[in-house]
Amino acid sequence: MLRNEIEEKYKWDLSSLYKNQEAFDHDYQQAQSLLEELCTYKDHICDSKESYIYFMNAEETLGNFIENLYVYAKMCTDVEPENEQHQHNFAKANAFMQKSGVDLTFVTLELIAHKEVIERYLEDDDCKDFRYPMEELFRTIPHRLDEEREQMLSQVRELTSIAQDTFQSFRLEYEPVVVDGKEEFLNGATYYVFLKNKDPQVRKDAFEHYFKEYQRYENVFANTLIGHTKGQVFFAKTRNYENALEASLYQDRASSELFHKVLYMANEKYRPFLHDYFALRKSILGLKEQHVYDIYLDLVDDIPQSYTIDESFDILSKALSVLGEDYVKLIQRAKEERWIDFLPSKGKCTGAYSWGSYSSNPYILTNFTENYESLSTLAHELGHSMHSYFSHKHNRPMLANYKIFVAEVASTVNEILLNQYLLNTTTDKKVKANILANLLDQLIGTLYRQPMFAQFEEQLHTWVQERKPISSTTLTDYYLSLNKEYFGPSVIVDELQKYGCYYIPHFYYNFYVYKYSVGMAVALSFVKKIKVGQTKDYLTFLQKGGSEPCIDQLVNAGVDPCSDAVYEDAFTYFQQILEEFKQLMQ
Ligand SMILES: [Zn+2]
Repeated sequence: MLRNEIEEKYKWDLSSLYKNQEAFDHDYQQAQSLLEELCTYKDHICDSKESYIYFMNAEETLGNFIENLYVYAKMCTDVEPENEQHQHNFAKANAFMQKSGVDLTFVTLELIAHKEVIERYLEDDDCKDFRYPMEELFRTIPHRLDEEREQMLSQVRELTSIAQDTFQSFRLEYEPVVVDGKEEFLNGATYYVFLKNKDPQVRKDAFEHYFKEYQRYENVFANTLIGHTKGQVFFAKTRNYENALEASLYQDRASSELFHKVLYMANEKYRPFLHDYFALRKSILGLKEQHVYDIYLDLVDDIPQSYTIDESFDILSKALSVLGEDYVKLIQRAKEERWIDFLPSKGKCTGAYSWGSYSSNPYILTNFTENYESLSTLAHELGHSMHSYFSHKHNRPMLANYKIFVAEVASTVNEILLNQYLLNTTTDKKVKANILANLLDQLIGTLYRQPMFAQFEEQLHTWVQERKPISSTTLTDYYLSLNKEYFGPSVIVDELQKYGCYYIPHFYYNFYVYKYSVGMAVALSFVKKIKVGQTKDYLTFLQKGGSEPCIDQLVNAGVDPCSDAVYEDAFTYFQQILEEFKQLMQ
């Protein structure tokens, strides 16, 4: 469909960002002069308490300008990539953001150099909003180097990021897969479509053609991955962290105990539940042999189940009513005030996201196709948007942005509440089974799969840190052994699966994946409380934004992500759902 054929009410209204091009240009001018003014404060930010306060406020204002310009331009190009004005706006916003980053590098250094003076200012009430941001900044001091070495490090970073760039730009070409006598195109997206094909030969071919390419370039991938890891280890060491894991956890004030707890719970203590799941799959599908390429087969046959946009909102209003009237009203507002761009159209980017600026509506882009997945995605993105809405409403910009560590909580809570509502209101056995199967997939993807990845990540970093000689075989053999343990006795892990360690983009981040498991476990804990009417703590959590450390936010809301109970409950929940599914399928 073309965008101009879509009814207005299904397209987002970006006027809470800019009403027209004139307004965009006006802000762009304002932002430029503000940046110039801020630059005149070099060496003078802390001349007096007044100059410090003025600077902090003005820098925050500049941040708002940049955010509005960038977000607006990017969102416009996401739905109309061919529009030249949008392209031009985006290039301008992007260049300005880069420039301001470079021009204002002096700020951090200057604030750190005046730590003692600033700490005296912070005792006064008119500086109280700056306390937490300054605490966060000063916390990094033991891990900073002098100016000269910092400059050198930023140049080294350009070199070490080449590994990630190489990974991202490497495009493999796969041998096509023959389906019903016809050759069909294989890539990262169609791969999973082939794995759902009822013909076992199609699945096997897709799997083999896919991983054979990673095998062919295994040394390129091994060097790239090792290169990336060496960079992480180098930075951690240079910045006085014990290791790369500690450097990563430091950002969230998380401990290595927490990280290892997540791995222990998923990879050891509660692993048997996962093996039960794979055994159940094998028996439901009636497979003599269950290979790794069989595990994406649908357990419940396609059911004609569809939801229009209006129906989806009716369902969500009921499913989320446990969160209170205000929350539900806000969901309705999202539709009525056109915060959401619903429908797929030619050129529009795929997938879904929730985004916006501090002062704008918390927008959603989605590609709604009226199926269960669309409804579930809408619930997910609305969770993000509500979290942003409340965080922005209750905090000034510099204290409003929540961290990745807690970002998936609100979205997951909504999804789980939706699932539970649908399960309670559906009498159709097949529909119910389909929801449970989807829920199991989701729980496995976060609670089990990510900790397996995290274990690989940790081992790789340890080898690099200890300067052990590593080859592609070292990596792939280890990855294969992890997979065998993960899938258990009911799944045959074919040899080619070992090259799976080369296609996961998250291995090029820095100990990121374990946060998905924490997010899911925490969300399940919140749902448990919400179900018995304890919503107040959760709603307070949604208002926290970036005003306090993320683990504190959760603990204060009654869910301690460092406690065993959170994970014990999560895996017990998985087992309950598995049992329910088993009963239903018998
Ligand atoms: Zn999300």
